[in-house]
Amino acid sequence: MTSHDKCIFCQIVAGNAQSQIVFENDKVMAFMDVMPASSGHALLVTKNHYDNVLEASPEDIAEVGRVSVAIATAVKQASGAQGIGVHQLNGAAAGQTVFHYHMHIIPQSEGAHVAIHSREMGDPASIAVMADKIRQALA
Ligand code: 5GP
Ligand code: ZN
Repeated sequence: MTSHDKCIFCQIVAGNAQSQIVFENDKVMAFMDVMPASSGHALLVTKNHYDNVLEASPEDIAEVGRVSVAIATAVKQASGAQGIGVHQLNGAAAGQTVFHYHMHIIPQSEGAHVAIHSREMGDPASIAVMADKIRQALA
């Protein structure tokens, strides 16, 4: 497994940095975004480090695609949102800020414009409540 010491998502995958993990298997992990664009915003990452999708293996890309549907379904159920954005950015010019391949899964409600990024830290207690609901929906 490729891992980078200075990459925050590699540190989360390795268990060296705290996060609200909601799902993991041998290839991917899902955890809550610390700066949620809306309540329930989750991230799905590969366990291998790739800077972005352009570098990732076809097998890992396929697994992210497959698991993203299960996570999106659980996030939709847990949040009660009408829609779910599944987004993925590659390169700083595209708005990527953490250079470890990942998918955003973001609850969206009718009429409310939700950006992919928030620049504010979420409330840890509220994020923990949503993480529990998502884990239950996946169980
Ligand atoms: P990107 O801009 O690369 O598409 O998205 C990176 C996301 O990672 C952002 O939404 C940001 O809030 C989130 N993020 C940055 N640092 C951390 C962290 O330490 N833990 C978690 N759980 N999310 C993070
Ligand atoms: Zn990494």
